[in-house]
Amino acid sequence: MQPLIEIKEVSKTYTTGDFRVEALKAVSLTINAGELVALVGPSGSGKSTLLHIMGFLDRPDSGEYYFAGHPTAKLPESRLSAIRSRMVGFIFQSFHLLKRTTARDNVLLPMVYTGLGSDAAKALDCLRLVGLGDRVKHKSNELSGGQCQRVAIARALVNDPLVIMADEPTGNLDAASRQEVMQVIRDLSEKGQTIIIVTHDDEVAAMTDRTVRLKDGRIVSDEIRRTRAPGKAAAAALPPARLSFSPSEFAEQLKVAFKAIWSHKMRSALTVLGIFIGVGAIISLMTISEGFMKSLLSGASEEDAKKVWVTPRWQHGKPRRKFTMGEVEAIRNRVPLAEKVTPSLTRNGLEVSAGDKRTEANVQSREGYDPAEQAAKPDYFENRKVAGRFFTRAENLGRARTAVINQALAKKLFGSENAVNAEIRIKDITFTVVGVADNHKAEDIFGGQPSAYIPLSTAGKRVFGASKLDYVEVAAPTPDDAQEVRRQIIGVLRDARGLREDAEEDFEVKTFETQIEMFKSTMGKLSMVVYGIAGISLLVGGIGIMNIMLVSVTERTREIGLRKALGARNSDILSQFLIEAVVLCLIGGVLGVGLGFGLGWAAYFFTKVKPALGAGTIAFAFGFSTLIGVGFGFWPAMRAAMLDPIEALRYE
Ligand code: ADP
Repeated sequence: MQPLIEIKEVSKTYTTGDFRVEALKAVSLTINAGELVALVGPSGSGKSTLLHIMGFLDRPDSGEYYFAGHPTAKLPESRLSAIRSRMVGFIFQSFHLLKRTTARDNVLLPMVYTGLGSDAAKALDCLRLVGLGDRVKHKSNELSGGQCQRVAIARALVNDPLVIMADEPTGNLDAASRQEVMQVIRDLSEKGQTIIIVTHDDEVAAMTDRTVRLKDGRIVSDEIRRTRAPGKAAAAALPPARLSFSPSEFAEQLKVAFKAIWSHKMRSALTVLGIFIGVGAIISLMTISEGFMKSLLSGASEEDAKKVWVTPRWQHGKPRRKFTMGEVEAIRNRVPLAEKVTPSLTRNGLEVSAGDKRTEANVQSREGYDPAEQAAKPDYFENRKVAGRFFTRAENLGRARTAVINQALAKKLFGSENAVNAEIRIKDITFTVVGVADNHKAEDIFGGQPSAYIPLSTAGKRVFGASKLDYVEVAAPTPDDAQEVRRQIIGVLRDARGLREDAEEDFEVKTFETQIEMFKSTMGKLSMVVYGIAGISLLVGGIGIMNIMLVSVTERTREIGLRKALGARNSDILSQFLIEAVVLCLIGGVLGVGLGFGLGWAAYFFTKVKPALGAGTIAFAFGFSTLIGVGFGFWPAMRAAMLDPIEALRYE
């Protein structure tokens, strides 16, 4: 008959500093299926070491170990964890139940690591078998010691192991509970279950069929009191390494992660603060700039896309060289694609008053593209409602002191009164308001900027103290022509200004596309600052995560040992802690998105630009949070995964 366990000349030496302990000295032992064996001996005689080797929690230094007829020396760790999971059931002196977890869930735990899914009915059967059918929903802290140990026995049974190994199962129990637990063990043995018990208690040993006595790392006696017909078939194949990651395991790990985070609410909240602020900063910037972009693009009509703006290049806060009417004429005559050429004068922050009300306003004047056929309504007012009228041709050409003002200015100077036909003073020159126009899109930003428009001929020296043109707006026939028009204007102006081939232009010609590019580049510079701050916050947040994960791993060292004894692979432990770190970061990330969006709306009150939250931004935030979780959680998780199961179980 094939023995279940066959150990030949197994030795194990522990070295602590210069100190060597030969825990096992060439021990040989054979145990058949169905036996109920006690390993006894004084403390330090090597009982536990032998049990751990037989249970694949430890490896011998030398000697051979055949399990169910298979040599085990060369099996990789992944196979050993599969064997622990499917073929060995452990019972420990201190029960090692999961805290604040029901009897049922404790018994379900080993099923997580088989990869076969969990079977609640089976767990219930096992609890009934140990006489706890009525304590299924009780948590570990609501059970007596004897009941806890019986839950642990049920847990050891749940995956139908070939052998149950118990390390001082009665060591922490009073006499009555000891009796209770031993009765359960004996009943299992009667049903054919192979059981090995380590004990220093001779009374416990007397309740078994066979006593193997150790002393100083050697077997000194082996007394078989009763032989039985072999129990479960010993010639089983060893389970293969489990390579997959089952959904039920993922669910369990998520549950554990949330439980761990929830049980330390304050600590978790402080931990995610850095991620929260960092993600919040990034998201707020992104929503605001996305909002600007959106309003820029949604406000952009085909008219905008056709436009080409000619502006001076600025240096030291001043325009280098403004434009003359001669240059405007050159563009009109020599750029055939230029459909409308609108020279403009503009001044910001001029004092405008009416009666005793005064305010600063932006004063602009724009000539139509053809002064002889001066359109009553310049391009700039397209798509805008106007109360009253625009300038007449005579006014445009004849330096008339008439003005069109926007609603923002009308409101400031006249409140709700009708402004049409009222008088205003711009730099102490009196103008008659002939029309009130809706605010331009661009003027709506920042709560409505007051503007006044006056004829170009009037603007010149008299109002602005200069007749050089501030900029020239040109329209291309189609948006596709804008770049070509831009190119031609550059050529014409370079020529008009006599710039040499290698000379830099003292003007700029922008299309809508270049405007957007410029906006992006300005945002880009601002972004660098925000990203810098966010980066520091995220780094600090990440280090906080790492720190807390290290604490979490240390706190749960014994739990990690238990999970490994129940068959968890290193990768299971690694993923469990990674998932916890990622969940923490994602909580920070989700709250951060909320913060960022909230800040975006807060900014709305100043900018009047609605924040926009794209799917990409959200995906970015979550992706980034996950990355931080994985990045900073990896080392603590790795430390957990690499823990030695025995040392972890013994950790105080
Ligand atoms: P028992 O279970 O019979 O009390 P053990 O198998 O636990 O004995 O230990 C046998 C010997 O090996 C003891 O002297 C113990 O101090 C030593 N030992 C056990 N584990 C370790 C270890 N991880 N490192 C160093 N020495 C150990």
